[in-house]
Amino acid sequence: MIEFKDVEKYYGHFHALKDINLKIDAGETVVLIGPSGSGKSTLIRTVNGLEEIQEGQLIVDGYDLHDPKTDMNKIRKNVGMVFQHFNLYNNKSVLENIMLAPRLVLKRDEAENKKIAMELLERVGLADKADNMPSALSGGQKQRVAIARSLAMKPKCLLFDEPTSALDPEMVGGVLKVMREIAQDSAMTMLVVTHEMDFAKAVADRVIFMADGAILEDASTEEFFKAPKNERAKQFLSQVD
Ligand code: ATP
Ligand code: MG
Repeated sequence: MIEFKDVEKYYGHFHALKDINLKIDAGETVVLIGPSGSGKSTLIRTVNGLEEIQEGQLIVDGYDLHDPKTDMNKIRKNVGMVFQHFNLYNNKSVLENIMLAPRLVLKRDEAENKKIAMELLERVGLADKADNMPSALSGGQKQRVAIARSLAMKPKCLLFDEPTSALDPEMVGGVLKVMREIAQDSAMTMLVVTHEMDFAKAVADRVIFMADGAILEDASTEEFFKAPKNERAKQFLSQVD
Protein backbone atom coordinates (compact mmCIF):
# COMPACT_ATOMS: atom_id res chain seq x y z
CA MET A 1 0.00 0.00 0.00
CA ILE A 2 2.82 2.41 0.95
CA GLU A 3 6.44 2.03 -0.07
CA PHE A 4 9.33 4.42 0.54
CA LYS A 5 12.51 3.65 -1.40
CA ASP A 6 15.64 5.64 -0.55
CA VAL A 7 13.55 8.73 0.13
CA GLU A 8 15.19 12.06 0.99
CA LYS A 9 13.31 15.16 2.02
CA TYR A 10 14.75 18.65 2.54
CA TYR A 11 13.26 21.87 3.86
CA GLY A 12 15.62 24.26 2.10
CA HIS A 13 19.02 23.04 3.28
CA PHE A 14 17.61 21.16 6.26
CA HIS A 15 17.68 17.39 5.73
CA ALA A 16 14.37 16.31 7.26
CA LEU A 17 14.04 12.70 6.02
CA LYS A 18 17.16 10.63 5.54
CA ASP A 19 17.28 7.51 3.37
CA ILE A 20 13.79 6.32 4.31
CA ASN A 21 13.02 2.75 3.32
CA LEU A 22 9.71 1.49 4.55
CA LYS A 23 7.00 -0.81 3.31
CA ILE A 24 3.51 -0.90 4.79
CA ASP A 25 1.15 -3.56 3.50
CA ALA A 26 -2.57 -3.08 2.95
CA GLY A 27 -4.48 -3.60 6.18
CA GLU A 28 -1.50 -3.09 8.47
CA THR A 29 -1.62 -0.79 11.49
CA VAL A 30 1.74 0.86 12.06
CA VAL A 31 2.63 3.23 14.88
CA LEU A 32 5.36 5.79 14.32
CA ILE A 33 7.16 7.13 17.39
CA GLY A 34 10.19 9.26 18.14
CA PRO A 35 11.31 12.45 19.86
CA SER A 36 10.04 15.90 18.94
CA GLY A 37 11.55 17.11 15.68
CA SER A 38 12.53 13.63 14.50
CA GLY A 39 10.48 13.89 11.31
CA LYS A 40 7.32 11.94 12.17
CA SER A 41 4.89 14.57 10.87
CA THR A 42 7.06 15.17 7.83
CA LEU A 43 7.09 11.47 6.98
CA ILE A 44 3.35 10.98 7.43
CA ARG A 45 2.57 14.15 5.44
CA THR A 46 4.57 12.93 2.45
CA VAL A 47 2.19 9.97 2.15
CA ASN A 48 -0.73 12.13 1.02
CA GLY A 49 1.43 14.67 -0.76
CA LEU A 50 1.19 17.45 1.83
CA GLU A 51 5.00 17.46 1.73
CA GLU A 52 7.07 16.83 -1.37
CA ILE A 53 10.08 14.54 -1.41
CA GLN A 54 13.26 15.49 -3.24
CA GLU A 55 14.83 12.11 -3.89
CA GLY A 56 13.84 8.47 -4.04
CA GLN A 57 10.52 6.84 -4.72
CA LEU A 58 7.30 6.91 -2.77
CA ILE A 59 4.61 4.59 -4.02
CA VAL A 60 1.15 4.96 -2.50
CA ASP A 61 -1.68 2.76 -3.70
CA GLY A 62 0.27 2.02 -6.87
CA TYR A 63 1.00 5.67 -7.70
CA ASP A 64 4.48 7.17 -7.66
CA LEU A 65 4.14 10.43 -5.73
CA HIS A 66 7.44 11.79 -6.96
CA ASP A 67 6.26 11.53 -10.57
CA PRO A 68 4.88 14.90 -11.71
CA LYS A 69 2.34 13.06 -13.88
CA THR A 70 0.66 11.52 -10.82
CA ASP A 71 -2.74 13.03 -10.09
CA MET A 72 -2.64 13.91 -6.39
CA ASN A 73 -6.44 14.03 -6.22
CA LYS A 74 -6.49 10.28 -6.84
CA ILE A 75 -4.17 9.74 -3.88
CA ARG A 76 -6.09 12.03 -1.57
CA LYS A 77 -9.36 10.24 -2.34
CA ASN A 78 -7.88 7.03 -0.98
CA VAL A 79 -5.66 8.39 1.77
CA GLY A 80 -7.35 10.25 4.62
CA MET A 81 -5.66 12.25 7.33
CA VAL A 82 -6.62 13.09 10.91
CA PHE A 83 -4.72 16.01 12.44
CA GLN A 84 -3.83 16.99 15.99
CA HIS A 85 -6.05 20.08 15.78
CA PHE A 86 -9.01 18.41 14.00
CA ASN A 87 -9.25 20.99 11.15
CA LEU A 88 -13.05 20.86 11.04
CA TYR A 89 -14.96 23.48 9.04
CA ASN A 90 -16.16 25.65 11.89
CA ASN A 91 -18.91 27.34 9.89
CA LYS A 92 -20.56 24.04 8.97
CA SER A 93 -22.59 21.63 11.09
CA VAL A 94 -21.17 18.31 12.19
CA LEU A 95 -23.24 16.46 9.59
CA GLU A 96 -22.23 18.90 6.84
CA ASN A 97 -18.55 18.48 7.77
CA ILE A 98 -18.91 14.77 7.06
CA MET A 99 -21.03 15.08 3.92
CA LEU A 100 -19.01 17.76 2.15
CA ALA A 101 -16.10 15.85 0.60
CA PRO A 102 -18.13 12.81 -0.51
CA ARG A 103 -20.58 15.18 -2.20
CA LEU A 104 -17.94 17.29 -3.95
CA VAL A 105 -15.28 14.71 -4.68
CA LEU A 106 -17.19 11.44 -5.01
CA LYS A 107 -20.47 13.00 -6.23
CA ARG A 108 -22.24 10.69 -3.80
CA ASP A 109 -26.02 10.80 -4.01
CA GLU A 110 -27.42 13.11 -1.31
CA ALA A 111 -29.68 10.57 0.45
CA GLU A 112 -26.94 7.94 0.42
CA ASN A 113 -24.42 10.53 1.62
CA LYS A 114 -26.60 11.44 4.58
CA LYS A 115 -27.24 7.81 5.44
CA ILE A 116 -23.52 7.01 5.48
CA ALA A 117 -22.71 10.15 7.48
CA MET A 118 -25.33 9.29 10.11
CA GLU A 119 -24.06 5.71 10.34
CA LEU A 120 -20.55 7.04 10.93
CA LEU A 121 -21.73 9.48 13.57
CA GLU A 122 -23.48 6.56 15.24
CA ARG A 123 -20.24 4.61 15.10
CA VAL A 124 -18.24 7.35 16.82
CA GLY A 125 -21.01 7.89 19.39
CA LEU A 126 -22.15 11.32 18.19
CA ALA A 127 -25.41 10.77 16.32
CA ASP A 128 -27.15 13.26 18.62
CA LYS A 129 -24.67 15.99 17.60
CA ALA A 130 -25.37 15.88 13.86
CA ASP A 131 -26.92 19.34 13.73
CA ASN A 132 -24.51 21.01 16.16
CA MET A 133 -21.76 23.35 15.06
CA PRO A 134 -18.20 22.19 15.88
CA SER A 135 -17.82 25.04 18.40
CA ALA A 136 -20.42 23.31 20.57
CA LEU A 137 -18.31 20.15 20.86
CA SER A 138 -15.53 19.13 23.22
CA GLY A 139 -12.07 18.44 21.78
CA GLY A 140 -12.61 14.71 21.97
CA GLN A 141 -15.94 15.00 20.19
CA LYS A 142 -14.40 17.20 17.49
CA GLN A 143 -11.72 14.61 16.91
CA ARG A 144 -14.31 11.84 16.61
CA VAL A 145 -16.15 13.95 14.02
CA ALA A 146 -12.85 14.44 12.17
CA ILE A 147 -12.36 10.67 12.14
CA ALA A 148 -15.93 10.11 10.88
CA ARG A 149 -15.30 12.72 8.20
CA SER A 150 -12.22 10.84 6.99
CA LEU A 151 -14.05 7.53 7.04
CA ALA A 152 -16.88 8.96 4.92
CA MET A 153 -14.52 8.97 1.93
CA LYS A 154 -14.01 5.22 2.43
CA PRO A 155 -10.25 5.60 2.17
CA LYS A 156 -7.91 2.66 1.76
CA CYS A 157 -5.48 4.28 4.14
CA LEU A 158 -5.83 6.60 7.13
CA LEU A 159 -3.00 8.71 8.53
CA PHE A 160 -3.16 10.03 12.09
CA ASP A 161 -0.77 12.72 13.34
CA GLU A 162 -0.92 12.79 17.15
CA PRO A 163 -4.72 12.67 17.17
CA THR A 164 -4.98 12.76 20.95
CA SER A 165 -2.15 15.05 21.99
CA ALA A 166 -4.23 18.25 21.96
CA LEU A 167 -6.97 16.69 24.09
CA ASP A 168 -7.72 16.90 27.78
CA PRO A 169 -6.76 13.58 29.39
CA GLU A 170 -10.36 12.54 29.98
CA MET A 171 -11.10 12.85 26.24
CA VAL A 172 -8.27 10.64 25.05
CA GLY A 173 -9.85 7.26 25.80
CA GLY A 174 -12.92 7.84 23.63
CA VAL A 175 -10.84 8.78 20.59
CA LEU A 176 -8.44 5.85 21.04
CA LYS A 177 -11.41 3.49 21.36
CA VAL A 178 -12.77 4.65 18.00
CA MET A 179 -9.33 4.23 16.42
CA ARG A 180 -8.94 0.76 17.92
CA GLU A 181 -12.30 -0.28 16.49
CA ILE A 182 -11.34 0.99 13.04
CA ALA A 183 -8.05 -0.90 13.19
CA GLN A 184 -9.75 -4.10 14.27
CA ASP A 185 -12.92 -4.00 12.15
CA SER A 186 -11.66 -2.80 8.84
CA ALA A 187 -9.17 -3.71 6.18
CA MET A 188 -7.87 -0.16 6.22
CA THR A 189 -4.18 0.60 6.37
CA MET A 190 -3.40 2.84 9.34
CA LEU A 191 -0.26 4.86 10.01
CA VAL A 192 -0.43 6.53 13.41
CA VAL A 193 1.95 9.00 15.03
CA THR A 194 1.26 8.84 18.76
CA HIS A 195 2.82 8.92 22.20
CA GLU A 196 0.13 6.57 23.52
CA MET A 197 2.21 3.47 24.13
CA ASP A 198 -0.69 1.41 25.51
CA PHE A 199 -2.54 2.06 22.26
CA ALA A 200 0.53 1.01 20.26
CA LYS A 201 0.88 -2.18 22.30
CA ALA A 202 -2.79 -3.07 21.90
CA VAL A 203 -3.38 -2.14 18.28
CA ALA A 204 -0.19 -1.85 16.22
CA ASP A 205 1.17 -4.65 14.08
CA ARG A 206 4.47 -2.83 13.88
CA VAL A 207 6.31 0.04 15.53
CA ILE A 208 8.70 2.37 13.76
CA PHE A 209 11.10 4.50 15.75
CA MET A 210 12.55 7.66 14.18
CA ALA A 211 15.21 10.10 15.33
CA ASP A 212 16.94 12.91 13.44
CA GLY A 213 15.03 12.22 10.24
CA ALA A 214 15.99 8.54 10.02
CA ILE A 215 14.26 5.27 10.85
CA LEU A 216 16.35 3.64 13.56
CA GLU A 217 14.10 0.70 14.27
CA ASP A 218 11.25 -1.06 12.50
CA ALA A 219 10.00 -4.08 14.41
CA SER A 220 6.91 -6.07 15.29
CA THR A 221 5.08 -4.53 18.24
CA GLU A 222 5.92 -7.49 20.45
CA GLU A 223 9.61 -7.42 19.60
CA PHE A 224 9.83 -3.68 19.94
CA PHE A 225 8.33 -3.45 23.40
CA LYS A 226 10.00 -6.58 24.70
CA ALA A 227 13.48 -5.68 23.60
CA PRO A 228 14.15 -2.71 21.34
CA LYS A 229 17.48 -3.17 19.58
CA ASN A 230 18.35 0.45 19.07
CA GLU A 231 19.88 2.32 22.01
CA ARG A 232 17.97 5.53 21.35
CA ALA A 233 14.71 3.64 21.05
CA LYS A 234 15.42 2.03 24.42
CA GLN A 235 16.12 5.40 25.93
CA PHE A 236 12.98 6.89 24.38
CA LEU A 237 10.80 4.09 25.72
CA SER A 238 12.16 4.47 29.23
CA GLN A 239 11.12 8.15 29.09
CA VAL A 240 7.61 7.77 27.73
CA ASP A 241 6.53 4.59 29.51
P1 ATP B 1 6.84 16.66 16.93
O1 ATP B 1 6.88 15.41 17.78
O2 ATP B 1 7.28 17.85 17.69
O3 ATP B 1 5.54 16.85 16.22
P2 ATP B 1 8.01 15.63 14.46
O4 ATP B 1 8.74 14.35 14.70
O5 ATP B 1 6.64 15.53 13.90
O6 ATP B 1 8.01 16.47 15.82
P3 ATP B 1 8.54 17.28 12.16
O7 ATP B 1 7.45 18.24 12.38
O8 ATP B 1 8.40 16.30 11.06
O9 ATP B 1 8.92 16.51 13.51
O10 ATP B 1 9.85 18.14 11.92
C1 ATP B 1 11.11 17.54 11.62
C2 ATP B 1 12.14 18.61 11.45
O11 ATP B 1 11.85 19.38 10.29
C3 ATP B 1 12.18 19.61 12.60
O12 ATP B 1 13.53 19.94 12.86
C4 ATP B 1 11.44 20.81 12.08
O13 ATP B 1 11.92 22.00 12.65
C5 ATP B 1 11.71 20.75 10.60
N1 ATP B 1 10.58 21.29 9.82
C6 ATP B 1 9.30 20.84 9.84
N2 ATP B 1 8.53 21.54 8.99
C7 ATP B 1 9.32 22.47 8.42
C8 ATP B 1 9.12 23.50 7.46
N3 ATP B 1 7.92 23.69 6.89
N4 ATP B 1 10.19 24.26 7.13
C9 ATP B 1 11.40 24.06 7.69
N5 ATP B 1 11.66 23.10 8.59
C10 ATP B 1 10.65 22.30 8.95
MG1 MG C 1 4.78 16.16 14.57
